[in-house]
Amino acid sequence: MPLAPVGGEPDPEGGDCVACGRCCHHGPRTVHFLVDDDARMSPELLAEYTDLDPRPPGFRFMKNDGERCAGLDTRVPGAYPCRIYPNRPMDCRIVEPGSEACLEARRLGHLGTSVVFLRKR
Ligand code: SF4
Ligand code: SF4
Repeated sequence: MPLAPVGGEPDPEGGDCVACGRCCHHGPRTVHFLVDDDARMSPELLAEYTDLDPRPPGFRFMKNDGERCAGLDTRVPGAYPCRIYPNRPMDCRIVEPGSEACLEARRLGHLGTSVVFLRKR
């Protein structure tokens, strides 16, 4: 179920993020991990929240139910806190509040195509 758009300019310090959560809504294999991202997670967090893609080159991705990242805590209606926020990978840090990707996500109700994820080759 797509989320509704969110209007207005977000707080550049992230004060609106928990009430928004739009950029954490996207399809599977969107949030991937590089080596530094793996190192930020514990073995327990990696096992609970990530999957290794069996296809070459074997990237690790956040688990995803098809509509949103598995790291998103949706137990409280209208609030979207990240369960692994201090450990979140660079893909998540790229989408800063007020960035083009953020504003697009708020407009669409989910992460759009304006964000570019960089993959180590
Ligand atoms: S879309 Fe923007 S305001 Fe919403 S959670 Fe993401 S970074 Fe925060
Ligand atoms: S890891 Fe956290 S910040 Fe990144 S997409 Fe998932 S819920 Fe959002």
